[in-house]
Amino acid sequence: MTGGAAPGAIRSDGGDACGQAPLVDGFGRLFTYLRVSVTERCHLRCRYCAPAQGERQRAKEDALGPAQFDRLLTVFRRLGAHHVRFTGGEPLVYAGLNDRIRQARALGFERVSVTTNGHLLARKAPGLAAAGLDDVNVSLDSLDPARFTQITGGGDLNRVLAGLAAARRFLARVKLNVVLLRDQNLSEVLDLVAFAAAYGYDIRFIETMPLGAAGAAAVAQSYVSAATVQARIAERYRLRPLAQAADGGPARRFALEDGPVEIGFISPVSREFCETCNRLRLTARGRLVYCLGGTEGIDLRAALARGFDDEALEALIRGEVTQNKPKGHGFGSGAHAVPVHMMAIGG
Ligand code: SAM
Repeated sequence: MTGGAAPGAIRSDGGDACGQAPLVDGFGRLFTYLRVSVTERCHLRCRYCAPAQGERQRAKEDALGPAQFDRLLTVFRRLGAHHVRFTGGEPLVYAGLNDRIRQARALGFERVSVTTNGHLLARKAPGLAAAGLDDVNVSLDSLDPARFTQITGGGDLNRVLAGLAAARRFLARVKLNVVLLRDQNLSEVLDLVAFAAAYGYDIRFIETMPLGAAGAAAVAQSYVSAATVQARIAERYRLRPLAQAADGGPARRFALEDGPVEIGFISPVSREFCETCNRLRLTARGRLVYCLGGTEGIDLRAALARGFDDEALEALIRGEVTQNKPKGHGFGSGAHAVPVHMMAIGG
């Protein structure tokens, strides 16, 4: 810690500052996966993700600068992260994305990923690939153009399809993320699986989560369990169970018709999977979020502003995560709703 900065609002409990021991939380879970929201800005307003139209976007100057992002990437790499995913907001509207990818590569992250709405992907896929991106998740909730526009608050399905085509050409792995909405896309799950199979995309069906007013409303109006969707798909397709992903991801995974396409079901509401949680989330404003199910975390931007050096940052994160990362998100417990929108955390 430089200048003997008093932690104040940024609590530090000391901890092991050597930076080389793996980061294990209070429940014995090993941290290996960092999700970084590079911006809160997004040109879409997905109905389960974004605050209502007209609600003010937070000031851009609240966001971390490039050097701050890179400092924190360094620290999390030293803490044992080997997979980083850049998300948002919409990460492809963030001008420094290729630089952050290059930096993650230079730091030795084994896997560098992006989650995107796909609207800018046709133009940006070559640059992302050249920067060192391994794989991309593209959100695609409907194959019906009008419904797609409605769910996403203005999205253009054709642009996403063009983006997917480019991603297929330039990147080794492309996955589709489908957020399940009973009244919107339950009728399309077989079409979405057929689409994924035809183009060789892996596909994930995700239960909608109660984050922010938008997420809570989507759960109340449109929740459907992943088990319901899996049963519907299994009536048409043979699903061969696969072992849990090497990266400890929460999806229950299956091979589709014994082919190369993987189909997964993520059930944060109906079936908690937190005992294998391996991830931490860094928001664009520098807040380290322990869990999607709460607002607890650390203000790392404040720690940077106070002059914490890398060792002090490591010690701060280690101490706080060990003591405070919760056992589970608790979404299945009924009334649980988180005050922050997903758009501000990054999914
Ligand atoms: N803008 C990018 C995108 O659209 O993919 C990245 C950010 S978005 C917050 C990341 C992922 O979170 C998307 O796949 C999105 O569908 C998902 N998501 C957002 N709100 C959600 C919610 N309430 N429940 C479940 N998934 C959600």
